[in-house]
Amino acid sequence: MENCIFCKIITGEIPSTTVYEDECVKAFLDISQTTPGHTLVIPKKHVADLFEYDTSLAADVFTRIPKIARAIKASDDSIVGMNVVNNNGAVAYQSVFHSHFHLIPRYSKRDDFKMVFADNSNKYSQEQLTEIAAQIKEQLKE
Ligand code: 5GP
Ligand code: ZN
Repeated sequence: MENCIFCKIITGEIPSTTVYEDECVKAFLDISQTTPGHTLVIPKKHVADLFEYDTSLAADVFTRIPKIARAIKASDDSIVGMNVVNNNGAVAYQSVFHSHFHLIPRYSKRDDFKMVFADNSNKYSQEQLTEIAAQIKEQLKE
């Protein structure tokens, strides 16, 4: 893809600090280093986001993430957890439209990564939850 910065990182046109690479994926340090070791895992095939993955690409990428995550964790004794984050769409904070997974090592609850999950559980009846699930299930029918 022309003008895709991550495709240019794959070809080497834009330099990156690589931690892992094979025929399917490349993993390299995120320039922002939200926490030390913050790594991006990207498929070598250009897809914009998760919605474009077929089963084969999903298998290629997802099977490699735990291995890379374990290597990051093992690289520093002070890493005590990790957030794996995948943003899809500008509204979901995606800024580079070549799909990628953030592996963000966690050092403490007060390091530089934050995530907020609002608790709206008191706003939904069981009937409403069942209806939402039914609409999703309908889309999963083969
Ligand atoms: P997004 O916001 O799309 O989920 O994440 C894009 C990430 O790509 C950001 O965390 C940003 O720091 C990182 N990034 C953008 N440009 C470059 C670059 O040229 N090199 C590297 N290593 N990371 C980049
Ligand atoms: Zn690309």
